[in-house]
Amino acid sequence: MYNDLEILNNLENNILNKDEIAFLLKSKNSDIIFKRADEIRKKYLGEEVHLRGIIEFSNYCKRQCLYCGIQGQNSKIKRYRMSVNEIIETAKTSLPFNYKTVVLQSGEDNYYTDDMICEIVREIKKMGFVITLSIGEKTYEQYERYKNAGAERYLLKHETSDTQLYNTLNPNMSFQKRIECQKNLKKLGYEVGSGIMIGLPTQTIESIANDIIFFKKMDYDMIGISPFIPHPDTILGESDIPALELIKKVVAITRIVTKDTNLPVTTAFSTLNNARGREEMLQVGANVIMPNITPVKYKMKYELYPDKACLTEVAFQCKGCLEARIKSIGRCVSTNYGFRNKER
Ligand code: SF4
Repeated sequence: MYNDLEILNNLENNILNKDEIAFLLKSKNSDIIFKRADEIRKKYLGEEVHLRGIIEFSNYCKRQCLYCGIQGQNSKIKRYRMSVNEIIETAKTSLPFNYKTVVLQSGEDNYYTDDMICEIVREIKKMGFVITLSIGEKTYEQYERYKNAGAERYLLKHETSDTQLYNTLNPNMSFQKRIECQKNLKKLGYEVGSGIMIGLPTQTIESIANDIIFFKKMDYDMIGISPFIPHPDTILGESDIPALELIKKVVAITRIVTKDTNLPVTTAFSTLNNARGREEMLQVGANVIMPNITPVKYKMKYELYPDKACLTEVAFQCKGCLEARIKSIGRCVSTNYGFRNKER
C-alpha cells in the first residue's frame, strides 16, 4: 500500500515511479503535497516572482491542433498581425513596468520572415530585455539565426507525452519532430520551456504521471501546466473542464520533482479562477507570471480558448493588480532576469 509522505520523500530524492505519482494525483491529502511543493520552491528559488510581459503578435496559424481556438481552419475568428514596428513599439511602452523579459508569441505564421523575426529580436534586446520566442516548429538553422540575433529562451509546449494522443490532437504533426525541435533548441543553448494541458480527451492520470517523469528526463528550464478549456468553435468544444485541484496537484508535484525550474501561473488557470487563481498557484510551486502586454484591440482576438482572463485590462492595470496579489501572500516581484539556476 502506498503512503503519501513516503512518495513525497521519494520524489524529493529523485526516485520517480509512475504508479506512485498517479497515487498522489488521486490522493485526497492535497494539503501535504502543496506544503511540500511550497517548501521546495522556497528552498531553491526563494520568495521572488518573475514577471514576464507577453506580446501575442499574430493569431494566424498554419496548424490545425484540435484543441485550439486560433487553429488555421477556424473561419469564425477575426485574424490580426502586428507589424514589425508595432511589436517593437509595444515592447518599448512596457519599459516603465520594469519587466525583465519580453515573450513574443504567435501562431505558426509564415508571414514573418526570419529577417523580420531577427530584426524584432535585435531591436527589443537593445532595450535591455531578455527575449523568449514562442513561434513554433522551425529548422535548426532558423533557431540558430534567432539565437544569434539575441533570443535566449524558447517555449515549445508538447501538451502531452503520450505519442498517440499527441498525434491524434495535432494532425500532420509528430511528437518525435516536436521533441527533436526542443533538443535542437537545447543544443543551441536556449533555455527551453515546454508544458502540458490537463483534461485532454482520453488523457488518464497515469498519462499525466508519465508527463511529469518526462519533464524530469528532458530537464526543461520552464514548464507551463494549463487546464484544457474547450473552445466552442473546435471539434472538442463539448469536452469537460478539468478540476482545479488536479491542476494544482500537477504543478505541485512538478515543482517537487524538477526543483528549480521556472513554473508560470498559466493564464488558462487564472481564467478558471480569476479571483484567487494566481495566488493559489504561487502557493503550490509556481514562481512566474506572464502579464499580457499585447494592445487591448488585439489581445481579445488571441482566443486560444474562450473568456480568457484580463482581456480588457491595459498593461499598467495588470502591473498594479499583479504586484498587489504577489505582496498579499508575502512574496515579492523579482528585479533580476530570472534565468534558471541549475544548482542541483
Ligand atoms: S496550438 Fe499553436 S500551433 Fe496549434 S493551432 Fe494553436 S496556435 Fe497553431
